[in-house]
Amino acid sequence: MRTAANGSISGIRHVVFEKSGGLPSQPQAHFINHRSMEVFRGLGDISRVVRELSPPLEDWRRFVYCSAMLKRVYGSVDHFPGQDSPYVPYASPEPVAHLSQHKLLPILLERAEASPRTASIWFGTQVTAIRDRGSEVAVTVEHASARSERHKRTIVCSHLVAADGANSRVRDWLELPMEGDACLQNLINIHFFSKDLAQQLSKRPAMLYFCFNRATVAVIVAHSLADGEFVAQVPFFPPLQDLGDFSKTAAADIVRAAAGSDVEVEVCSVRRWAMSAQVASRFHKGRVFLAGDAAHRFPPAGGFGCAQPRVEVGSSAHRRGV
Ligand SMILES: Cc1cc2nc3c(=O)[nH]c(=O)nc-3n(C[C@H](O)[C@H](O)[C@H](O)COP(=O)(O)OP(=O)(O)OC[C@H]3O[C@@H](n4cnc5c(N)ncnc54)[C@H](O)[C@@H]3O)c2cc1C
Repeated sequence: MRTAANGSISGIRHVVFEKSGGLPSQPQAHFINHRSMEVFRGLGDISRVVRELSPPLEDWRRFVYCSAMLKRVYGSVDHFPGQDSPYVPYASPEPVAHLSQHKLLPILLERAEASPRTASIWFGTQVTAIRDRGSEVAVTVEHASARSERHKRTIVCSHLVAADGANSRVRDWLELPMEGDACLQNLINIHFFSKDLAQQLSKRPAMLYFCFNRATVAVIVAHSLADGEFVAQVPFFPPLQDLGDFSKTAAADIVRAAAGSDVEVEVCSVRRWAMSAQVASRFHKGRVFLAGDAAHRFPPAGGFGCAQPRVEVGSSAHRRGV
């Protein structure tokens, strides 16, 4: 979506194929680093919109290390000591920000769609094959009709940017192997709402709560204390465990153990993911470019994931004279 927003701003005609029917409702990334904000600044006023939607700094300036979110605090680190804003003027004209990916993406989509002459976004359309013909790329896509029949179509374009995520099929088709560690840690991601918990945390606001107790070890990301929206990251050990061990009821129990209180919890989803540290052996082959997690899989700390896609596409395309 970042690449599409950039394409619209730069007047480059493009089509985005997205296999999902719409934008995700799950929060994933939330910390937006200086570089991402600088990229958004270059895309019109997106950085201003992100700054305005980001919660007050007091809600996310700290990491708290504790036995449980509402129990004993072992330590608390203020990442903005002596500051009352997230600006770091010697580092960047843009501040860092805290805005969940599912709130950021609609802003990028709106920007990408603002130039209908250059941008076309096709949701529910999956890329199933590509063929680099030397002077152009043929992209075969499938999409479901209103009557749920699958339709195939081939679109011919001058270049293809593959931002199809960590498990990129395009990268596999190009036979570009990943280098590095494919799995530093397996984790379960529990997306939940709890106004009750958020209210009780009002005197202990933080972006991350690292919880260590006999019942659970978890990192809780406070995506929005105002909305009571959180994600719990819980270590997961396949093959000794599998996703089936984490029903919504079991997940709610983990959240209560991490909270240290019998709070009301609404679990929205439980998913697994692997934290990786990998980079593709090359970022392009012929007329096809890799971008984002397709090109590299970072651990989430530092907010590098959101920063990269436009940077890579811009620099590898520039070097190729595109
Ligand atoms: C738990 C977690 C927390 C994170 N926190 C942060 C953070 O705080 N800050 C940060 O900067 N980064 C963070 N990241 C990383 C960040 O989420 C990713 O780097 C970023 O989402 C990558 O964007 P992407 O567009 O490359 O891939 P994705 O977001 O995975 O998007 C790929 C898209 O391609 C679509 N797709 C896949 N295959 C096809 C196909 N064949 N045809 C059509 N469409 C297809 C998928 O449906 C998907 O929508 C976090 C990641 C995780 C897992």
